[in-house]
Amino acid sequence: TSVSPPARPIARVRPLTCTETRRGDRRVVHSLGDGAVHVSAARHDATFGFSAVFDAGASQEAVFEGSGMRQLVELAIDGFSCTVFAFGQTGSGKTYTLMGPLAQSETQPASPALLGLMQRSFACLLEQSRSRGSDLALSASYLEIYNEQIRDLLSPGPPCALPLRWSKTRGFYVENQLSVDFESLEAIVSLLLQGSQRRRTSAHALNRHSSRSHALLTIHIRNRAGHQSIIPLTRVPQPSACPSKQGTLCFVDLAGSERVKETGSSGELSVEANSINRSLLALGHCISLLAKPRGKWTHIPYRDSKLTRLLARSLGGSGITLMVACISPSSRCLSETLSTLHYASRARRVTTRP
Ligand code: ADP
Ligand code: MG
Repeated sequence: TSVSPPARPIARVRPLTCTETRRGDRRVVHSLGDGAVHVSAARHDATFGFSAVFDAGASQEAVFEGSGMRQLVELAIDGFSCTVFAFGQTGSGKTYTLMGPLAQSETQPASPALLGLMQRSFACLLEQSRSRGSDLALSASYLEIYNEQIRDLLSPGPPCALPLRWSKTRGFYVENQLSVDFESLEAIVSLLLQGSQRRRTSAHALNRHSSRSHALLTIHIRNRAGHQSIIPLTRVPQPSACPSKQGTLCFVDLAGSERVKETGSSGELSVEANSINRSLLALGHCISLLAKPRGKWTHIPYRDSKLTRLLARSLGGSGITLMVACISPSSRCLSETLSTLHYASRARRVTTRP
């Protein structure tokens, strides 16, 4: 019997920013060790469990090493669909965790110590690729979902919405999506910067656009040699899943969650007109359904949003997911913090598989 959550949830609590410290915000979120996050404020006192928790002092390297990211890269090389997504309210550290501060300031290059999960994963992937000879063919695509429209962040020229299609062989896919081959760390980092730049440029025009869009960078890994290494079963959440010759490693910087609201104590979801909310709610819904014991599985509503359609393969089937809950420690962010922690806790229910 193997027991595993459908998605491995980890939490990262960022330090208080200078502004928060200056205006006297209190730290209301602390790590208790052993995967527990504790929130203590006037009328709230709650503890949430995670697979791992990184407190304000944790370095980017510590997050990379402690999150299981390295194993995820290896599984992607072995043909699995691996996804890491960062979620939380705007300003909670999603982009910092994924890319480091370099995505924010163009004037000075970030120190290598501050590089995020993405650059570290790329380095790990290329190292592995080199050690396997030229067996792996690597390519990248970079998309953004804004207002339920998909945009290619790598293709030059004016942004245009790309259609999302479904086929029996490919599942959901984006038509005419650009996929760029790369062989070096410099090349993939430069693709990441180009795409993020495009996302940011339109952020100026569209008022806080970047925090209202989901950005998905996917690395496609094709094994030219066709052989697969043998993976210990304990590392595979779904033993029935069969690795294909093409693995993927997808990094998702989700839109800020600050307007997601739930109504009702039973967790019934309100229908939000807002498309960010709709997709974040759809994602949360799929994850909580996937987290139920298998016998109780109902239909998983991937079709409810473009985001869940794009992530369908990684969430279900042979997918392996790492959820990074990004959290601000400030007393002023309390209600959003609680909502992020509740959102993450949906993945905690444990699934037992034969
Ligand atoms: P988000 O992408 O969730 O909106 P950001 O990643 O842009 O948030 O982070 C907001 C601010 O906090 C940025 O100035 C970022 O540099 C800073 N920050 C976030 N996480 C950390 C951290 N772990 N350590 C230091 N600074 C951080
Ligand atoms: Mg961001």
